[in-house]
Amino acid sequence: MLWSGWGDPAKATALPEPLRKLLQDLLGVRAPETPAASFGEVRLAPVALSPLVLAELRAVVGDGHVRSDDDARIRHTRGKSTPDLMRMRAGDGSDAPDAVVLPGSHADVTELLRLCAAHRVAVVPFGGGTSVVGGLVATRNGFAGVVALDLARLNRLISVDAESMTAEMEPGLRTPQAEQLLATRGLTLGHFPQSYEYATLGGFAAARSSGQASAGYGRFDDMVVGMTVATPRGTLDLGRAPKSAAGPDLRQVILGSEGAFGVITSLRLRVRRAPARRIYEGWRFASFAAGSAALRRLAQEGPVPTVLRLSDETETMIGLARPGELGGLAADAGCLAIAGYEGFEEVTAQRERAAAVLSESGGVHLGTEPGESWAHGRYSAPYLRDSLLAVGATVETLETAGFWSNLPRLYDAVRLSLQGSLGSPLVMCHISHVYGTGASLYFTVVTAQSGDPLAQWETAKRSAGEAIVAAGGTISHHHGVGRDHREAYAAEIGELGVEILRGIKDRLDPRGILNPGVLIAQAPAAQPGVSEP
Ligand SMILES: Cc1cc2nc3c(=O)[nH]c(=O)nc-3n(C[C@H](O)[C@H](O)[C@H](O)COP(=O)(O)OP(=O)(O)OC[C@H]3O[C@@H](n4cnc5c(N)ncnc54)[C@H](O)[C@@H]3O)c2cc1C
Repeated sequence: MLWSGWGDPAKATALPEPLRKLLQDLLGVRAPETPAASFGEVRLAPVALSPLVLAELRAVVGDGHVRSDDDARIRHTRGKSTPDLMRMRAGDGSDAPDAVVLPGSHADVTELLRLCAAHRVAVVPFGGGTSVVGGLVATRNGFAGVVALDLARLNRLISVDAESMTAEMEPGLRTPQAEQLLATRGLTLGHFPQSYEYATLGGFAAARSSGQASAGYGRFDDMVVGMTVATPRGTLDLGRAPKSAAGPDLRQVILGSEGAFGVITSLRLRVRRAPARRIYEGWRFASFAAGSAALRRLAQEGPVPTVLRLSDETETMIGLARPGELGGLAADAGCLAIAGYEGFEEVTAQRERAAAVLSESGGVHLGTEPGESWAHGRYSAPYLRDSLLAVGATVETLETAGFWSNLPRLYDAVRLSLQGSLGSPLVMCHISHVYGTGASLYFTVVTAQSGDPLAQWETAKRSAGEAIVAAGGTISHHHGVGRDHREAYAAEIGELGVEILRGIKDRLDPRGILNPGVLIAQAPAAQPGVSEP
């Protein structure tokens, strides 16, 4: 993974010249005055952990699995949001952990948590490092140091229960690895987020991720039927049955807890038979409203395709345009929807029935070319972000969800807020996760960088978050809370809700060492040095 950008450097995407020109003409994008810092220019504080603590950590996991060199520290600094990349490009390594520790088992994790609690060391569980909400930025306040607990060595497929269609898997598996292991048994998880190449199973559970085929396979939290969690107070083994009436479901407490309550060391996941057939096709709607109504009908009455997404007018225009023809499609592009079907023989009938609903709802069938083109390029957009940043354009995404009846209000509120804060940015939106009762809205914003692009984006993001809360949406459909959404999340669940979460954290993590400041604010009672319950 590129330390200051996204993905495999070999896949870097150069910006087509017509697109660069469009950015200049339409948005006034100009090359940044300061060049990006090189790896060697990143400013790191000296390692704060004492040699004694480092030696004790090494005694648990072995010499080679505790690293405090610059390379390891820089590669475990923050996540991959645009502000994260901006800080790295500016050479700001101030959030780097003091050491990176790689446990090899659940027992290692338990022992490491015990040691870190004893020495007042904060612990940041680290999966693929793709958080876009500040989920990997623990506060140092009151701690002797910060350790990134990289779960990469916990990467086994432990067992498959073919009768129940579940697989027990370790959290450090990245999605391609997990899919390869399952493919040897003819199985799949069906979880394909845009961060597919790097994100891990543990990170998906901890942040309640949702993949591009969620309409068919469900969200990641739907797939989790059991888990083992190491906490500073002991181990939680959760999930004896798919569903249970035995009290509140504690699995739901860990899902979305973003490393603040415990470290997930194994997951029992629902799996599906790997599909034999995959067909993706395009539909055109006259407007976003007309397309949304069609998606709602499918979500409520069925049949629901495996992939179902709809771009608004702006995203359709930008997405459809070939670099040489930019701007030429605006007038009649309408809104592009993608419907994808994965499965077996039933795909033909399902596709026919869905096509009838889409046509009756005003959709025009565009054939498979737009669908195949979407499937082909589905993981490439993050590479383009790096090229845009380099030429002086800020590009970032934000997302929310709401009930169908409230979606138009939410859509307008976010767009207005972004336009208000950024002047005349390009704001694109799509719906990519649908339910009978509502859907998500995913916005992509492109704007010319000001003299202080970080402050410029933070102001815009704050105001968009306030607009989401005021318009009745949730602050996140699938990116999570981290540090960036903490205040908005608190506004969403109210003071009593925050108190409940704090109570759980205090019980599981009395010294507050797990990802302090992520999910909920650090409480004085949870700070180190204060007596334990
Ligand atoms: C380019 C890009 C595209 C993205 N696309 C999508 C998308 O389509 N859908 C989507 O849902 N998200 C998406 N994301 C967000 C991100 O990939 C998800 O939040 C993902 O779930 C994070 O997984 P990770 O393994 O990288 O976790 P990390 O970023 O390493 O960690 C995320 C959080 O979970 C905690 N954590 C990690 N592992 C564990 C564990 N084993 N136990 C306890 N806590 C743990 C961390 O401390 C942190 O708070 C995208 C991000 C990027 C940069």
